[in-house]
Amino acid sequence: MEKEQIKTPRFLLSEDEIKGRIKIMADEINHDYQGKDVTAICILKGGMVFFTDLIRFLKMPLRCEFLATSSYGNDKKSSGEVKLTMDTKYPLEGKHVLVVEDIVDSGLTLSYILALLKARNPASVKLCSLLFKPASLKRDLTVDYVGFKIGNEFVVGYGLDYAGLYRNLPYVGVLEE
Ligand code: 5GP
Repeated sequence: MEKEQIKTPRFLLSEDEIKGRIKIMADEINHDYQGKDVTAICILKGGMVFFTDLIRFLKMPLRCEFLATSSYGNDKKSSGEVKLTMDTKYPLEGKHVLVVEDIVDSGLTLSYILALLKARNPASVKLCSLLFKPASLKRDLTVDYVGFKIGNEFVVGYGLDYAGLYRNLPYVGVLEE
C-alpha cells in the first residue's frame, strides 16, 4: 500500500506545555475529589492520549470506562448529529463520574454525553477537556476542567485526528486549508 501524503500542521502547543498543564489539572482534580473514588470516562477516540496521560497523575481509587461518539466522519465540520457508537460497561449509579474529552467545539457532543450519563443517576458528573473553543460554543455547558482555550481553528495531534490521521503527533497543531 502507498504511503499517504499528509500536510504538516502549524505548531500550536508543545508536548512539554501539554504535559505541564495536565499535571496542574490533575492537582486540581486530586484536590477536588479527596476521599472519593472516581470513575473516569474516556471519550474515544480523540480523548485517548489525554486520558492516559491524565490518569497517571490521579491519586484517588480510579475506575476507567470508555465511551465513543461520532459526529464528524471525514469532515472538519460536525454533522450536528451525535451518535453513541460504544457505551460504558459498568453501572454508573452512585458513582463520581469524570468525563475526559479531547476538545469542546460547539458543545453538542458533551451536552449529549452529559444528559446520557445524568439519566443513570451518578453521585456527580464533572467534565474535563484538554482543549476548549469558547467562540464556537453553542450549548449552555460548563466544562469544569479546561486545559487550554484555543481559537476557532481545526486542530490535530495528541489524539485528535483529521480523516483518521494525525492522532499520533505528540503536539497539537492547526491544520490549515
Ligand atoms: P462538539 O460536539 O463540541 O462540536 O465537538 C466535539 C468533538 O468534535 C470532539 O470530541 C472532536 O472529536 C471533534 N472536534 C471538534 N473540534 C475539533 C478540532 O478542531 N479538531 C479535531 N480533530 N476534532 C475536533
